[in-house]
Amino acid sequence: MKYDLLVIGGGPAGLTAAIHARARDKSVLVVTNQPTASPLCKAPAMANYPGLPGVTGLELVERLVEQARDMGAEFKTGRALSVMPMGGSVMVSVENDVAEGRAAILAPGVSRAAPLPGEEALLGRGVSYCATCDGMFYRGKRVVCAGDAPNFEEEAEFLRSIGCQVAVKRLAGLSILGEDRVTGVRDAAGEETPCDGVFLLRASIAPGQLAPGLALENGYIKVDGRMATNLPGIYAAGDCTGQPLQLAKAVGQGQTAAHFSLEGGQG
Ligand SMILES: Cc1cc2nc3c(=O)[nH]c(=O)nc-3n(C[C@H](O)[C@H](O)[C@H](O)COP(=O)(O)OP(=O)(O)OC[C@H]3O[C@@H](n4cnc5c(N)ncnc54)[C@H](O)[C@@H]3O)c2cc1C
Repeated sequence: MKYDLLVIGGGPAGLTAAIHARARDKSVLVVTNQPTASPLCKAPAMANYPGLPGVTGLELVERLVEQARDMGAEFKTGRALSVMPMGGSVMVSVENDVAEGRAAILAPGVSRAAPLPGEEALLGRGVSYCATCDGMFYRGKRVVCAGDAPNFEEEAEFLRSIGCQVAVKRLAGLSILGEDRVTGVRDAAGEETPCDGVFLLRASIAPGQLAPGLALENGYIKVDGRMATNLPGIYAAGDCTGQPLQLAKAVGQGQTAAHFSLEGGQG
């Protein structure tokens, strides 16, 4: 099925976009980690959100999810791994599945993780972000897994189940070693572990890795007044577009992105 709109990220920006799309009777698929993974869910009573003084972050996210579902938005739980325009569509890969839309809105919040030393140079040459997508290339080989993805254990277990020798490391202080291909990792204590592949299973993926060719400004996604990015059919909203990292801005941009993406989507 080709959706009118794909939304990446089930925080306030993405859920507002989904609600707005359904209010216009457009089909929408929200691809997201568990919506309660939004950092907002850690917020105690908030004083500055208009009209709902004292609402907790968790309560607000739960109500947004309920509203979006009740209005007919569809949800797919999982990490979006890549987003790219293709012909008259935008394709989003979710773990080892693919979704197609006329337009997409990136609303993944901020990725707080800087790339690890060696990560970008060795991406696709031993560095992977998805065990169930790339694991078969490492069958019977030594791999290292590191990350904080909600499905981390499941992904690591998948690698063990296909015969990989899996070592688990903490992301902090990790360096990836190798010239043309991954040969190992060095952890924060300086200990080196030889391996053939490194699976970085983070809950969020930096925007430039999510959508190759996406224009950034100071590390945030560059958008125009319609919330359009430089890539056809791809819009962005919320914290991922930069300061202020605040709820009211995220909600407003989600609405704006939905409005213009539904008019300007592809195909
Ligand atoms: C402790 C705390 C307190 C705060 N208090 C306030 C406050 O009082 N007032 C205020 O205005 N703001 C507050 N904020 C800021 C507010 O939480 C953010 O501005 C707001 O949540 C941004 O919404 P968003 O939808 O852009 O991103 P997020 O809320 O970060 O949601 C993004 C969602 O996308 C998911 N995601 C990310 N990458 C992927 C991927 N590749 N595939 C699938 N899903 C993905 C994430 O897991 C997350 O669920 C607070 C933040 C924190 C952390």
